[in-house]
Parts: sequence; C-alpha cells; structure tokens
Amino acid sequence: MLRHVLTVRDFTPGFLESLFQSAAASKRQHAGRGRGARVRWSPHWNALRDHVMVSLFYEASTRTRHSFEAAMARLGGKVITTENAAEFSSAIKGESLEDTIRIESGYGDVIVLRHKEKGAAARAASVSDVPVINAGDGDGEHPTQALLDLFTIAERFPGRRDLRVTFVGDLLKGRTVHSLAWLAAMLEGTSSGFAGAVNFVAPDVMQIPRPVEGLVRDCGLPVAMHDALTPALVAGSDVIYMTRTQSERHAVAPGGDSYALTEKLAASLGPDAVVLHPLPRNRELPEAIDRLPQARYFEQARNGLFVRMAILLWVFGVLEPIVAPGPRNRERAFA
Ligand code: ASP
Repeated sequence: MLRHVLTVRDFTPGFLESLFQSAAASKRQHAGRGRGARVRWSPHWNALRDHVMVSLFYEASTRTRHSFEAAMARLGGKVITTENAAEFSSAIKGESLEDTIRIESGYGDVIVLRHKEKGAAARAASVSDVPVINAGDGDGEHPTQALLDLFTIAERFPGRRDLRVTFVGDLLKGRTVHSLAWLAAMLEGTSSGFAGAVNFVAPDVMQIPRPVEGLVRDCGLPVAMHDALTPALVAGSDVIYMTRTQSERHAVAPGGDSYALTEKLAASLGPDAVVLHPLPRNRELPEAIDRLPQARYFEQARNGLFVRMAILLWVFGVLEPIVAPGPRNRERAFA
C-alpha cells in the first residue's frame, strides 16, 4: 500500500511517536549533540539517495516547499520541482490535475502537492502510482503543518494532555487550523492527546467551520467560541495559535485588529505559554512579539525541516509506526 499523507484523520499515535522520535533525533544530531553532526543531518543520512521527489506547487509557498526540498536533499534524495505549477505546468494548457499526476508519478517516487482546491490531494492520490503528500489543499487541510505544530507543542510541553489551546484569526479558511484542531480532537483520550480545552477566537464571518467545531466537541473536548481576543483569554491559554486572514480565499476580506496579539495583550501571556503561527504573518503578529520568550514561531518553522525529513522516511518505509493502531476515538470521530 502506498503511504500517502493526505489528512490528519489517518494519523495514529504510533505513527506520531515514530515520526517525532525521528525528527527529534535529527534535530539533536544537527544541533551537534549526536555523532557526525557536521555532515549528517539525520541518523538516516543518505537513506533516500535512490529516490526522487516531485514538488508540484500550484499555490505560493516559502516554508513548506523549501523545507520539503531541503529535507529530501538532507536525506540524500533528489528533487524536481515547479514552484508555480498553475502557470508553468500544462495546467495552463488545460491539462487536468489527474493527468498531470499520472505523468509525474512516472518520473518521481513521491509527489508533494499544493493546490488551491480542497480535496485535490485525495484526487491526486486516487490516480497516482507513488505516494502523494498533501502540502495544503485550498481551505481544506495542511496535515504536515499540523505535524510540525504538534511537534513544537510537544517539545515545549512534554507529556501534557491538558493544554488550553486558543486558535485566533481566520479559522474559516485557515487550513492549518482545521488540521491541528482535528488532530486535537482525534487524539483526545489517546497517549498522544495534548489538548484539554479549545478556544476559537474569530469574527463571525471567519469562525471555525461547523464540522470542525462539532468534531472537537464530539471528541469530548470543551470548546468555547469568542469574537475578541481578550487579556483573560491570553492569560488562560497555554498555546496561542495565531493566523493571518486568508485574503486570497475571501471574496471580500474582513479585517480588524481585534484579532492581533498586540504588545499590550501579550503582557497577559503566562510565562510558560507558547505563541505559534504557521506564517506568513501580517498585522496580527507584530514584530515586537518576536523578542518574547513565548514566541516560538521561528522555531516552529525550523522544526518543519526535521519533521518533514521524518515524514519522507516514513513514506519510503524507513520508519515504521512504533505501536499499531489508532486513536480510541477515531472510529467514533470520523464515522
Ligand atoms: N503557510 C500556511 C498555509 O499554507 C499558512 C498561511 O498561508 O497563512 O496554509
């Protein structure tokens, strides 16, 4: 069976454990605490030397594309890439995504796909001869971002399962929020659970989609919806997950600074809290916040490299899940 990475709904605690151990080992090794740190970025250094990754991006990207490409390179693999597939692939000549995937899966051993349409990665996987990794499908999901988000959270709060997680901003169109909230829901009650309560903070027109909210509730997590980010909410959060307005996905982009983590609001952050952001940021996260010890978003982006190395190792069968099957709530959650 091909090891696609399409949605967080497929992830199991065993998969996460294996992935995070591998990512942490690469990170340690890179930090120089392991052997051979100067040349080897991973205990699996060069493991993918016979493999080729196709990175097919129909939407703009900085971190996702380059961290996947760097991850492949650090593991000895090769990359063929198109950074603007919407314009520079045969899509402009009217070729369907399915046909492009049929062709590309004859050239590479894995396809990393970003596309503007929700469900595109699943469509691609249905016709691909090689694994497909969803690098963001419209306003659907961004499962590998959720993995690096969770890795960053687990690094800071090892073993905690009661974290108060507050999502702020464009929760309607922000695919990274959908994936991380879903992950919180489906891991609830498992060894990998991390959230104890979830807050969704957004104006009405950008609030979390009903199915995501419902799932989080159904999995037993207390959920609260808010229309403003207040000092009390900031003070009562372990993880503040900021997001920008996805202006490219709204006909008329709603604005407003009440969803910004201003310096004044940040004064209410607990000393151990973390501020995350999938980036890029706009006005919702002023640069003044960068100097706070709670600001972890650049570390979060850096972790993307180590986590994506682990994902590629898993896709190619170098890593196996540490324990078998899935979250207790999975069937219930996704029935
Ligand atoms: N980089 C993230 C994404 O591709 C977040 C964003 O664009 O706002 O979804």
